[in-house]
Amino acid sequence: MSAVISERQAMAKWVYSFGGGTSDGGAEMRNLLGGKGANLAEMASIGLPVPPGFTITTEVCTEVTQKGGHPGDLAGQVKAALAQVEQALGMSFGDTANPLLVSVRSGARVSMPGMMDTVLNLGLNDETVEGLARRSGDPRFAYDSYRRFIQMFGDVVLGVEHHHFEEILELAKEDLDKSLDTELTAEEWRQVIGQYKAKVEEETGAPFPQDPEAQLWAAIDAVFKSWTNQRAVSYRRLYNIPEEWGTAVNVQAMVFGNMGDDCATGVAFTRDPSTGENQFYGEYLVNAQGEDVVAGIRTPQNITIAGKQKNQSDLPAMEETMPEIFRQLVEVRETLEQHYRDMQDIEFTVQSGTLYMLQTRNGKRTAKAALKIACDMVEEGLIDEAEAVSRVEPGSLDQLLHPTLDPKAQRKVIARGLPASPGAASGMVVFDADEAERQRDAGNKVLLCRVETSPEDIHGMHAAQGILTTRGGMTSHAAVVARGMGRPCVSGAGELRIDYKSGVMRVRDVEVRAGDLLTIDGGTGEIMLGEVPTIQPELSGDFAKLMGWADKHRRLKVRTNAETPADCRTAVKFGCEGIGLCRTEHMFFDAGRIVAVREMILAEDEAGRRKALDKILPMQRDDFVEIFQIMRGLPVTIRLLDPPLHEFLPHGEEEMAEVAEAAGASVDKLRARLLRLSETNPMLGHRGCRLGITYPEIYEMQARAIFEAACKVQKETGETVEPEVMIPLVAMPRELEILKELVDRTAKEAMAAAGVEVAYLVGTMIELPRAALLAGKIAEAAEFFSFGTNDLTQTTYGLSRDDAGNFLPAYEARGIVKQDPFISLDQEGVGELVGIAAERGRKTRPGLKLGICGEHGGDPASIRFCESVGLDYVSCSPFRVPIARLAAAQAALAERLRDV
Ligand code: PEP
Ligand code: MG
Repeated sequence: MSAVISERQAMAKWVYSFGGGTSDGGAEMRNLLGGKGANLAEMASIGLPVPPGFTITTEVCTEVTQKGGHPGDLAGQVKAALAQVEQALGMSFGDTANPLLVSVRSGARVSMPGMMDTVLNLGLNDETVEGLARRSGDPRFAYDSYRRFIQMFGDVVLGVEHHHFEEILELAKEDLDKSLDTELTAEEWRQVIGQYKAKVEEETGAPFPQDPEAQLWAAIDAVFKSWTNQRAVSYRRLYNIPEEWGTAVNVQAMVFGNMGDDCATGVAFTRDPSTGENQFYGEYLVNAQGEDVVAGIRTPQNITIAGKQKNQSDLPAMEETMPEIFRQLVEVRETLEQHYRDMQDIEFTVQSGTLYMLQTRNGKRTAKAALKIACDMVEEGLIDEAEAVSRVEPGSLDQLLHPTLDPKAQRKVIARGLPASPGAASGMVVFDADEAERQRDAGNKVLLCRVETSPEDIHGMHAAQGILTTRGGMTSHAAVVARGMGRPCVSGAGELRIDYKSGVMRVRDVEVRAGDLLTIDGGTGEIMLGEVPTIQPELSGDFAKLMGWADKHRRLKVRTNAETPADCRTAVKFGCEGIGLCRTEHMFFDAGRIVAVREMILAEDEAGRRKALDKILPMQRDDFVEIFQIMRGLPVTIRLLDPPLHEFLPHGEEEMAEVAEAAGASVDKLRARLLRLSETNPMLGHRGCRLGITYPEIYEMQARAIFEAACKVQKETGETVEPEVMIPLVAMPRELEILKELVDRTAKEAMAAAGVEVAYLVGTMIELPRAALLAGKIAEAAEFFSFGTNDLTQTTYGLSRDDAGNFLPAYEARGIVKQDPFISLDQEGVGELVGIAAERGRKTRPGLKLGICGEHGGDPASIRFCESVGLDYVSCSPFRVPIARLAAAQAALAERLRDV
């Protein structure tokens, strides 16, 4: 066995080279080479200027992190790939005259910005640094590079914390009376390097490693291991990235953007990632190394003159300072967009007047930009409508469905920053990520305000309504992460000064303290005192266009779960095609009728109940009239009463007295009845159709209200009304038979009285495992099924809907469940029951209408599942209707692809 494994290992290819116009890999190899590695290979093969290098595959990550060693022949393959780089550049790794330096970077299948480690300038030591000084003719640059290397390698590989180096540098600058790093001379950097090395030896007990090969292997291993660091683990948990994917490691020849004024480094998006406009959008810094742009230490300059004007910057654009490089970059932009047919996020470096591409990937974008880019690209002929539909992440539409600032509202703008991620957000000011989480848990809306953010702040950004930073550009950590999360963000508001110690933020004579209310507008960059009113979003333009395309491609219908007129109207505006679940018990809670409802429940006998029900009937009828009118001919599924009875019971003496008076009974009698009704396990108790069986007069009243309302609306409007009466919590076929007979009888009476024929259906929820298993029998009476996956999940797992939150997070943390099954359908278990019920139900009654109305009806992954088992519709809360429409279209497209 082990001989077989080692043979496979010996033959396997662990290392893929790229550069010099060719490559072993390509964009389609993302799983093996990671996103960065696959795209470097792709760029090299389409002739873009990529410094040569190689990628060590994600498979090696698994070997290193799980088995602690390298697979057979990795060393040989790395050596050969390195030799190829040396040959392409005419330089040698470790050579004292003309040393090749490399970067060692992580690169997972999906981008995880800032979560894993990177080492730059690797290959420098006390001797090669002299060679670099001579070759570049710039000793200051060479020593600066060496000290950056010691700092990064020390931190990432040797575990010497960053602050040790920062302290040494700060003290040195103080002694030399210099405030900027760029003011230090070569000799001064040499002295800092001496102190850095001494610190490393003091902390690790060994001198700083001088052998470039040993440096390389230590860095490769450290980058692989950073896959399992705390930051990366939390990030993966947040974004559901499987641990087994692993990261690749990219080793690439260094190019320097910090060798003088004909050097630069920058990042750009081929289109505006905030608005989606077809404009080149990017930032650069002259004489700087890559990380300087993202770190937000120096204020970056715009690439284009248009960008400079838009951001009201006085700093010259690259279009002005380096016109030839700019021209080349514009060409690269064109090539990349034509090749990838999507907006790209690129990194580049200019070394001594030569442009190098260091990265490309599909750019993160706001939902607004995603829509615009998808629609524009269809118009430009780059993609077709179906592709456009699959380009927009359904969940991201949420960003567009939420309010923006009311333009008429009074606002006191105190400062302005960059419009880094759109949407308006108000909240109390907090300066710390942990505090943001605490305040959110205490039920407060918070605005996280930081000088800048780093990956350690992710949880606080997630907890906040919006994010404000005083430093950093449109590509800073705060901006990129906020856009990805869909949080409004204003970045780089330099006029504001934050004093963390005293918990105050100042701008001119205005002071904002922790706890004060503040509003930001991520679309304009404005920062305002207090809470500013908002307005509902406009759902026309690109949104309507994309939704139209989605509707063309989807098979699943989308309905809504709604019972109030306001919710019904919202859902209709969002394009719902009917009501999939109208929970009538929610109507019973209305302040004007709860006393009558309690009187009905506490009545001693049928006569008492009927007396109370007579009071409720006209109110229920009016509810249904209004709903039928709003839904204008669309199907409306009304579920008969389902709550555990105790939810309606009076609490406290005052409520008891009120009910006693209405019922004409004594408080003592009521109390005794109350005691009899109380249940040990109400979720599994006297609820759903069990109520209808024991107190048929309740369901009879509801059915009467439905049909009287339907007849009235149909008569008055001339439009057909399509009621679907739904019986909840059925476990036994007989339950449904009895209740269907009751509904049919009542319908007949109501229609005869009104002289109107209404076409209606009677069906059931499938929300208990027994119902799913007996679906074939149940379908003899049921004219439709609606999967109540909330209860079906609860009863399949034997997991209380109300209490699971107490311990499920521990299960998620340990990977026992990947996701809360109440949020995303457990396709393996609960899903199998849905599949069985669908199949058995349709066997009895071909064409049986099937839907889902549990919370899962609005979850894109669950919708994909519903498509695969052939349901007819999903039903979800009104605000999720557009998300479901898009997810349903993507599901249909994916299903079609699968069938090809
Ligand atoms: C369900 O159980 O999935 C359902 C929709 O009903 P409720 O949530 O009202 O129990
Ligand atoms: Mg239910």
